[in-house]
Amino acid sequence: MRALDLDDTSGCPLGVRCESCGIEAEGLAVVTAAMGSLGVACLTMCPTCAGSGTPPNVAVATAVRLVAQHCGHLGITFDDMAEALDGGGERR
Ligand SMILES: [Zn+2]
Ligand SMILES: [Zn+2]
Repeated sequence: MRALDLDDTSGCPLGVRCESCGIEAEGLAVVTAAMGSLGVACLTMCPTCAGSGTPPNVAVATAVRLVAQHCGHLGITFDDMAEALDGGGERR
């Protein structure tokens, strides 16, 4: 099985404002962030937030939604994501 690249953002749509600080800044970019044990989510962030290294402070319900959305961008299911996190992309 091909290892999943959960940090691939090539299929992720760019938002209109930073999802961390909420401003409509120049140079917004889609970045991936680990949402604890939930998985990897993608977020639109401004250069300041993306460079801070601090994951956005989102509610659990939001985090679940973001991870699920990112699964869609990657063309995988929530289960695939969990499995990739679990086994490091390798099937045992
Ligand atoms: Zn920001
Ligand atoms: Zn995504």
